[in-house]
Amino acid sequence: MNDAKIIAITQPTITLPPSDELFGQIRPMTAEEFICYTARVSNPSNQMNTETAPKLLKYLIRNRHWSPFEQVSITMDITTTRDIAHQIVRHRSFSFQEFSQRYADPTKDMGFVTREARLQDHKNRQNSIETDDEKLANDWLDKQAANMGVAQNAYEWAIRNGIAKEQARAVLPEGLTKTRLYMSGTLRSWIHYIDVRAEEGTQKEHREIALAAQNEILKHFPSLNEYWFPKVEIRDYTGTKKRCEHCFAPIEKKPWWRFWS
Ligand SMILES: Cc1cc2nc3c(=O)[nH]c(=O)nc-3n(C[C@H](O)[C@H](O)[C@H](O)COP(=O)(O)OP(=O)(O)OC[C@H]3O[C@@H](n4cnc5c(N)ncnc54)[C@H](O)[C@@H]3O)c2cc1C
Repeated sequence: MNDAKIIAITQPTITLPPSDELFGQIRPMTAEEFICYTARVSNPSNQMNTETAPKLLKYLIRNRHWSPFEQVSITMDITTTRDIAHQIVRHRSFSFQEFSQRYADPTKDMGFVTREARLQDHKNRQNSIETDDEKLANDWLDKQAANMGVAQNAYEWAIRNGIAKEQARAVLPEGLTKTRLYMSGTLRSWIHYIDVRAEEGTQKEHREIALAAQNEILKHFPSLNEYWFPKVEIRDYTGTKKRCEHCFAPIEKKPWWRFWS
């Protein structure tokens, strides 16, 4: 649950120029190298240079030169619950294709999940707190199971009695009902989506998806490792937590380029 996997990514098909003995053949190039190729559009003699790709990517990000990152598109296959999917589809720069509860039976084709017991943080509304209270966790599981049973019965009753799926689905608890969506966008959008959704202000279930997406992207864009995991001087302001010297954000969460802005 709460997972993301790359199922499609831009495949460059650039052919070698007349000056090359293999003129006309496709030059093998990764999606990461392709970003550099597009960034060098005004420097044709150096366009095939892939050696300095990591350095160039770093330069582009540091200077907020985002358009080359829009030249690569990535589609992820995401499994989650309907409530988290609702947060995901707010990211307007992406395109989506989602399992439709109007045409298929979500109780059979998708199924239900249960949710962990986390406590309300009364100081920070964007946070919830893990608990080791086993009784509370078990009681919470029982409540969810009971709710699912009632919902499933009502749904099945509705279908048996000819109610349309688009109406029957109204009784299903969105936070316990699984869904699947394909999310497609440029690398620029993925970078910024991960930046906000992998941070602690985002709820844990959504953070799991953003971190899975980050992991997938790093397989194809290893240079971004340096963007997400900075190797900068660490200063300890609080005595307990390493924090940025500018904004006091936890340092391990901070992309390196923000240190230069
Ligand atoms: C913790 C959290 C709490 C939220 N709470 C609420 C709420 O209470 N109510 C509510 O209605 N909504 C809430 N939202 C949703 C939020 O307001 C946005 O709608 C959502 O994050 C989508 O962001 P976006 O519109 O920037 O879309 P995106 O598709 O993520 O971004 C749009 C475009 O902006 C670009 N971009 C984004 N960031 C940068 C950047 N730093 N530099 C350069 N380009 C950038 C992207 O690349 C993309 O091209 C919350 C979001 C978060 C993360």
